[in-house]
Order: sequence, then C-alpha cells, then structure tokens
Amino acid sequence: MSNKVIFVVLDGLNYQVAQNCMGYLSAFMDSQQATTYQISCELPSLSRPLYECLLTGEAPVHSGIVNNQVRRLSFNSSVFSLAVQAGLTTAAAAYHWVSELYNSSPYNQQTDRICNDKSLNIQHGMFYHLDHYPDTILFADGEHLRQTYQPDFLLIHPMNIDDAGHRFGLDSPEYRNSARQADIILSDYLPTWIEEGYQVVITSDHGMNNDKTHGGILEEERAVPLFLLGTQFSQKSVDLKQTQICGLLCQLLGLSDHQKPYNPALLKQG
Ligand SMILES: [Zn+2]
Repeated sequence: MSNKVIFVVLDGLNYQVAQNCMGYLSAFMDSQQATTYQISCELPSLSRPLYECLLTGEAPVHSGIVNNQVRRLSFNSSVFSLAVQAGLTTAAAAYHWVSELYNSSPYNQQTDRICNDKSLNIQHGMFYHLDHYPDTILFADGEHLRQTYQPDFLLIHPMNIDDAGHRFGLDSPEYRNSARQADIILSDYLPTWIEEGYQVVITSDHGMNNDKTHGGILEEERAVPLFLLGTQFSQKSVDLKQTQICGLLCQLLGLSDHQKPYNPALLKQG
C-alpha cells in the first residue's frame, strides 16, 4: 500500500496550546475524521536534534545531532533518502537546518534556498533562514511544491509559533495566537489535501516554556501533539514515542524494508 503523505511540523507547538487554540483541527476530531495523540518529545527538547528524530527515527543521543549547533549532514537513513531510493518523489518547504541535515551542509542561502535535483534526498526544496518567515507564505511554498511536482512525501515546516514563543513565552497571547493562525492557514489547505487522498500527519518537534525557550524536561517543553488525518489511520488509542513517527511515515509511503520503529496499531491494516 503506497500513499502520498504530507508531513506538517509546526515548530515549537505545545500540546495543550494546540488542544485549546486549534479549533479547525478539533472539528476533524469531533467528526471522527482525525485522531490526536499526545507525545513526549525526545531530549534535549531542541529543534535540530528533533528534526533528525522525526525524519530518521533516531533519538538525539543516538543520532549525534545533540544541539542546534551540530551543523552537518545526518548519518542516518531518513524518510527522504528511503523514499528516493524507492523511486518516490520528495519535497520540502522547511527551515534551512532541514536542508543541512539531508541535502547539503553548510547551507548557502545564495545557492541552496530553492532546489530541484533528483539526485538529492530532498529533490524539490524551498528553504528559509529567518525565524519570522511568514507561515502563510511557507504554506504557499509547500502548496506550490505539491501542485508542481506531485511529491509522494512533502514536508511543510513553518516557524512562527516557535518564534512567538521565544519572543513572548508559552503563556502569552502572541504564542497562542500564532497557533490559532496556523490552524486558520491549515483550514485553507486541508480540505483539498484530504479530498485528493493524502495522508496528513501534523506534529511538532518540541513545546515551549515561560522562560521563552525550550531544551529541558518540563512537561510544557516536551508535550507535543500528533494529529492524523486520512483514510489509512485506525484512530485507535495507543501510546506513541516520537521515534516511531518516522516509521509511520515510511509505512504510509509503502517503504516496506525501512527498518524504522513504528506502531502498527495506528494503521488500519495494522
Ligand atoms: Zn525554538
């Protein structure tokens, strides 16, 4: 079974804020079209280590991507590399650290911002390097990639929620409003994605705290949501680890020998 997958990583989105502020996504839950799970992110609760975790299934202590300054290509197979090896098409509208992990490092904004190269792990990329790059434009970038290249695997990775958290903290109107804004943007795209048969996986790398940062073990820094929307999901209640999301994505894409951990109970055929 092979499905096209859109993987949305809403950077820095705390679980409870997602539950309280994302009314559009909650409507899918209310109508039994989607399921939400609470996940405790791996440690340290930092961005680059957890991009690697989400996309390779490796916790930071195993991947070696242990802080945001570890600036090198990933040593692990990723959803991108496995999909390309299987002849699938990959794309990402994402922060430039994702390019550094899977395409080329260090990132050169003059040459690496937009890429179209079938030999790369991320074949079609639109990357950005400013944390306040508007989410609304980032989603439009992702939609451009989807419509133009019909990727089997598309990562959409906006940064404004995390950016608001760093400027105003977890318990702030600005942080909550950035989550509400992402929910509104999603409402412009999800109906089409669902209608066209995509499996949509929405999560976050880490949460946020009231010190305007993250990295530690506090509940608010670690608790992130996972929303699953699509015809392939069982909607069963299961316990999940962040390291199992990569395997779920691989399974949806039909990458049968991916060797990544996943929980089969999440899928209908499981
Ligand atoms: Zn952050």
